[in-house]
Amino acid sequence: MDVKRSRSPRAPLDADDDKKRAAGWRGGLRPHVVLVGFLVTLPILVFVFGGRWGSFASSSSSSSTTTASVPNVGGRHVVAGGVATTRRTEAPKNDTAPTTSLSQDKLLGGLLSAAFEESSCQSRYKSSLYRKQSPFAVSPYLVQKLRKYEAYHRKCGPGTKRYRKAIEQLKVGRNVDDAECKYVVWFPCNGLGNRMLTIASTFLYALLSDRVLLMQVAPEQEGLFCEPFPGSSWVLPGDFPHDNPQNLHIGAPESYANMLKNNVIRNDDPGSVPASSLPPYVYLHVEQFRLKLSDNVFCDEDQLMLGKFNWMILKSDSYFAPALFLTPMYEKELAKMFPQKEAVFHHLGRYLFHPTNRVWGIIRRYYEAYLARVDEKIGFQIRIFREKPIKFENMYDQLMRCVREQQLLPELSTAEPANTTADAGKVKAVLIASLYSGYYEKIRGMYYESPTKTGEIVAVYQPSHEEEQQYTSNEHNQKALAEIYLLSYCDKIAMSAWSTFGYVAYSFAGVKPWILLRPDWDKERSEVACVRSTSVEPCLHSPPILGCRAKKEVDVAAVKPYVRRCEDVGFGLKLFDN
Ligand code: GDP
Repeated sequence: MDVKRSRSPRAPLDADDDKKRAAGWRGGLRPHVVLVGFLVTLPILVFVFGGRWGSFASSSSSSSTTTASVPNVGGRHVVAGGVATTRRTEAPKNDTAPTTSLSQDKLLGGLLSAAFEESSCQSRYKSSLYRKQSPFAVSPYLVQKLRKYEAYHRKCGPGTKRYRKAIEQLKVGRNVDDAECKYVVWFPCNGLGNRMLTIASTFLYALLSDRVLLMQVAPEQEGLFCEPFPGSSWVLPGDFPHDNPQNLHIGAPESYANMLKNNVIRNDDPGSVPASSLPPYVYLHVEQFRLKLSDNVFCDEDQLMLGKFNWMILKSDSYFAPALFLTPMYEKELAKMFPQKEAVFHHLGRYLFHPTNRVWGIIRRYYEAYLARVDEKIGFQIRIFREKPIKFENMYDQLMRCVREQQLLPELSTAEPANTTADAGKVKAVLIASLYSGYYEKIRGMYYESPTKTGEIVAVYQPSHEEEQQYTSNEHNQKALAEIYLLSYCDKIAMSAWSTFGYVAYSFAGVKPWILLRPDWDKERSEVACVRSTSVEPCLHSPPILGCRAKKEVDVAAVKPYVRRCEDVGFGLKLFDN
């Protein structure tokens, strides 16, 4: 546990931060202020650092002092990722200076609790400072809801008397009336991106249905994330009696749908059913089945019935948060929590997921080495799926078409440009996330062999190329998580269709990506190279059948103004704002 109870949430330097904020400050200093400030501070910095310029993220751990922004003014020659790039000599424009006090910037407008010890999980208060300020404000209602949830989790979470009591009742097979604490236990499924989306969806469900979220942490997921709730843990303790994942499948008799089917329970009059007459737990199987979410539970009667179970076990492969928006009884509450619908994962993801210091070390070192001082960062995420393999040449060609059409990178020139364009000397970093190295090799080679028309420098980087997806490797997942974060620090993102890995990255960033569309099933190439996403929300690939008890198909995209079909998955749904 990493809670620091005694610390004042607002460190002394916050007043200073407030003034900066009031003046619209966040790395957006006016040029004359930068110049005067820089000239005044330069001799001091030379004296203090003896000419060695520090970098912002490595400068602090847990103190409440403020560190200055120290741009790389030295004009270094850096060899990175096999490409030599000459850095320009002026201070880069986007070099913001994270401070170490718990300012509102660090707490993301109150999204994060101030009750944690900073050094135990450095990413928690630092990671978002590597990005541009979020375009989505956090609603005070959501902040209030999160603080209330944290208190509830502390009251009922593992290690408490109430938790022990609830586990005892589960073990003896009793579902009591009027339970003080209710739980939803998340079980893992698929790769890391999928897991992060389903954890966030389950957490949203926990918030709406007053349940404590607990997570079954498989070995491959151990040590990836810090605890998100102060003073407690979200890790499911080892004494949980129903922890065999083999039992969690569509045919499980404990699944809600099967209990209904087998007349173990009924949902026609939930108000008349005493909780104590129900089985000790219910399993919710929220997985894709024939392109739909398999258990049709996003209806009021079902939710009222499910609310009577003190223990719920949930396994999902889908970002089912949009389905909660389609459940009538949650609509009002969700509107208060998320006035901007497309910011659901953006906020919940940045609230829940904080890489541990070990993974943060990987992220920070890479960022510092290659990305911290460039003018623009462009992320490419290329994912090839087994069910629809795309040949390397076709995928590469599609990526390049997208780059050209959307002008994501400078064009190549046959002759060295005169250094007269406004952009000459600026550095664009291309960060490639892919299991394969081919895309990196080709793009790097291109900008190595030829100059650009604008005189811009293009530096190409790829942190790893694992060749194969490894579901059960902890080290592999650490790299995957690091790359999701690195991608999320990019100013622009182009990504493969259908990839939850990419969804998480752009949603964290709050950046609408260009999606490289998947070719039709009978084609090898996609005619359209890429389209811009309308929202920073992930796509729910398999919507539930709506219409509830009527069991009729309703085109929700046609009736709900905040739901749209996804650009990359025609039958998928995603939340968006007009
Ligand atoms: P999705 O399958 O694209 O929706 O994303 P998931 O994250 O659920 O599963 C893909 C998994 O493959 C990741 O979690 C990683 O383990 C691995 N993977 C895929 N692409 C990359 C990549 O670019 N870098 C790394 N390090 N791993 C990747």
